[in-house]
Amino acid sequence: MTMTDSNDSVESFDNFINGAFVPSDGGPRMQTSNPFSGRAWAEVPDDPSAVDDAVSAARAAFETGPWATMPATERSRLMRKLGELLARDAAELAEIETRDNGKIIRETSAQTAALKSYLDFFAGVTDKIHGEQLPNPSPDFLVYTEKVPVGVVGVIVPWNSPLMLLTWKLGPLLAAGCTAVIKPSDTTPVTSLLLAQRAAEAGFPPGVINVVTGGAGVGAAITAHPDIDKITFTGGGATARHVARAAADNLTPTVLELGGKSPQIIFDDVDPDAVTNGLLSGIFAASGQTCVAGSRAYIHADVADDVIARVVARAETLVLGDPSDPATEMGPAASEAQRDRILEMVETARSEGATILTGGVVDPELGGCFVRPTVIVDVDNDTTIVREEVFGPVLAVMTFRDEAEVIDLANDSDFGLAAGVWTNDIRRAHRLSRALNVGTVWINAYRSVSYNAPFGGVKQSGHGKDNGIEAVDGFLNTKVTWVELSGKTRDPFVIG
Ligand code: NAD
Repeated sequence: MTMTDSNDSVESFDNFINGAFVPSDGGPRMQTSNPFSGRAWAEVPDDPSAVDDAVSAARAAFETGPWATMPATERSRLMRKLGELLARDAAELAEIETRDNGKIIRETSAQTAALKSYLDFFAGVTDKIHGEQLPNPSPDFLVYTEKVPVGVVGVIVPWNSPLMLLTWKLGPLLAAGCTAVIKPSDTTPVTSLLLAQRAAEAGFPPGVINVVTGGAGVGAAITAHPDIDKITFTGGGATARHVARAAADNLTPTVLELGGKSPQIIFDDVDPDAVTNGLLSGIFAASGQTCVAGSRAYIHADVADDVIARVVARAETLVLGDPSDPATEMGPAASEAQRDRILEMVETARSEGATILTGGVVDPELGGCFVRPTVIVDVDNDTTIVREEVFGPVLAVMTFRDEAEVIDLANDSDFGLAAGVWTNDIRRAHRLSRALNVGTVWINAYRSVSYNAPFGGVKQSGHGKDNGIEAVDGFLNTKVTWVELSGKTRDPFVIG
């Protein structure tokens, strides 16, 4: 299927439930727009009542369908097949993601091309999941554990990397043997539906992967659903609080992958070119719309002027433009609301005494949602823009002199998702890594991720992990079985 928004036609999609697209029968629908052209190009259901059907299908698939008794090696084969189909269609999926969220095609292409490697990794885990036999003080007992899938998982993901973030959750939960009810972001719903369609093509039994599109109402219906066994959510802190409250009513466990205000710490012994690239990749890649955006820079005072001048020079020459052009380095903000929020936060910083060295405005030539790459100084840890997530291309720069001082400054945040440390002193690098209260530390690098590296934050950046074996563990319960072997009569009033 080739889709384009080069004319004014709007493509229509339906929910994918129990192995097929389900016509929405006149229920409420919503549109999704291309932030570059400003045009609506697709419309999808936005009907919370569809959640019940999806949960029923996922429950039936989990308990009674072929998935319930499928050998792990066969589960693995289906996951690998899905990876192959996503690789086959990677270019088409990247094009749709760029159209939906304005992210540059270079990045969406790399992400959709990598989906297969994530599914391959988790496919390799399926037949290594096992319990253990526990030594017991009494020879009369055989005691063993089994790892059993938690059940039906509600999966809610954001717009900034739709398929990649979905796969970080789907790979582990399928490896564990769970089934899923997925809600993509209201602004990027289409590629998740196409993934579910490819899962059916790969041979996944109906009901294992279900997708219900829509906004907050659909998300709330999933999080409040009493027949969902676990919720895995990636998104903002305000939404996460709604999710956690709704989940608490049913005592449903959650994985919450939230935002950050991640520090980049630059010492005075580093190659300024490498650092400049690292700072750029941390904050201007994806127009700063990434959870790990390195949005606070602490630069050693002896090199600060040089590094800041280099970053400003690169910020002013970045190629902004059509995100579907491979030459483009930075695309638009994903929506007008997002653009307005970014500009508002820059104005708040200015009113609190900050100096805007470059950017802080809409690009005068491109207009629309294009915010110029922005570098801000004359801020400190009390300035709002240093404390709150912007989710835009805005770097706040501060200086320091002392290692202990910068550790305190970096840890003085409500968030704890990630940090970058730039130094050639190996001892200092590891000291910093140990001292920083975050989920991921990059030394002389930034924004690297992989299927086998658990990803997630601490503090208000959330809890639980995507990726790695640890993410699979999150979708498993441990069941213990005690077998009495001797046939002796036991004292009913004594434990043991
Ligand atoms: P968001 O919180 O607005 O939305 C996330 C998802 O929740 C969407 O699918 C949305 O429709 C849904 N939702 C909205 N209201 C809901 C409700 N009441 N109940 C249940 N679901 C509801 O986030 P966003 O704007 O789509 O994404 C940006 C945020 O995501 C940023 O804060 C960013 O840092 C974070 N993020 C975190 C990670 C990570 O892995 N830690 C990765 C990417 C993005």
